[in-house]
Amino acid sequence: MNILSALLADSDAELERDIPGCRTRRIAQGVWECLPEHSAGSPLVLCAGIHGDETGPVEVLAELVDAACMGELLPRRPWLFAFGNLAALRLGRRYLECDLNRCFRGAPHAGAAKIEVARAHALSQALSIFALHGKGLLLDLHSTIRASLHPSFAIRPTATPGSGATPGLLATCGVPVLVEAGVEAPTFSATAAREHGYEAYTFELGRVRALGAGSSEELDALRNGLWRLIEAARPPESAASPRVYRVKREILKRSDDFALHVPADAPNFLPLQTGQLLAEDSPSRWFAEEGECLLFPNPDVAPGTRAVVLVRPVESGAT
Ligand SMILES: [Zn+2]
Repeated sequence: MNILSALLADSDAELERDIPGCRTRRIAQGVWECLPEHSAGSPLVLCAGIHGDETGPVEVLAELVDAACMGELLPRRPWLFAFGNLAALRLGRRYLECDLNRCFRGAPHAGAAKIEVARAHALSQALSIFALHGKGLLLDLHSTIRASLHPSFAIRPTATPGSGATPGLLATCGVPVLVEAGVEAPTFSATAAREHGYEAYTFELGRVRALGAGSSEELDALRNGLWRLIEAARPPESAASPRVYRVKREILKRSDDFALHVPADAPNFLPLQTGQLLAEDSPSRWFAEEGECLLFPNPDVAPGTRAVVLVRPVESGAT
């Protein structure tokens, strides 16, 4: 049985066999660390399925784990792999009680939710244990649910804007766009950056698909890139630099009166008109400022939660 079917049948599933050439141990449900006898790189964390309806990257991660167990993929750096929201994955739902990727700084709002808060705690604990191997790289793999002018992009939470990305890293994984954000978000990648000094990314890839719906070119690029990373292979020298955006501000939904004045189907990275009314939550109103583009608009979030992010392109050479 492969790892994904095993986990969907039983959250306590173990790997069918240890990964050859590595010490492997489970450190939480659906989370394993794999320590190669001969390591040639810094620690690597790969996570998928934080949102249970974003299944393409989950299948890619499961294929890589299966390939490692079969001895086809040879890990050459300490590797932690984690399947995020097992309960939601089983039901094909984004989450059960609240968005897991808003729970890494405790419950997002009063009266919330125990399943996802407990899971965020378990993932954070596993990361803290693994982080004892030193600073490394974390990729949290998602697939965005909305149309996007850039179908694939990476969000990097970083305390030092302008730090960019390791050369070749994003191109290796087929991700041509980088969004730099702060480290305060209650997400898994921001936690890795903030608490462990990791170079951490949330990858948003393609569209949500049902489990088993087959592969896409976009996911093939991801699979090949992750394979190289796990084997500690160098990125190709010719890799292009990503196009960079930076988060300028976020608009929080304060109350149930919140109204978003951009179309529900507006794509990510849509350039906005300066002065355009974006949202209101009486008595406050928000207007677009020069150069701002839309990211993740969603009025259907809980009060106290981010309803839209505004980003601005960074001219190459600027900091
Ligand atoms: Zn997601």
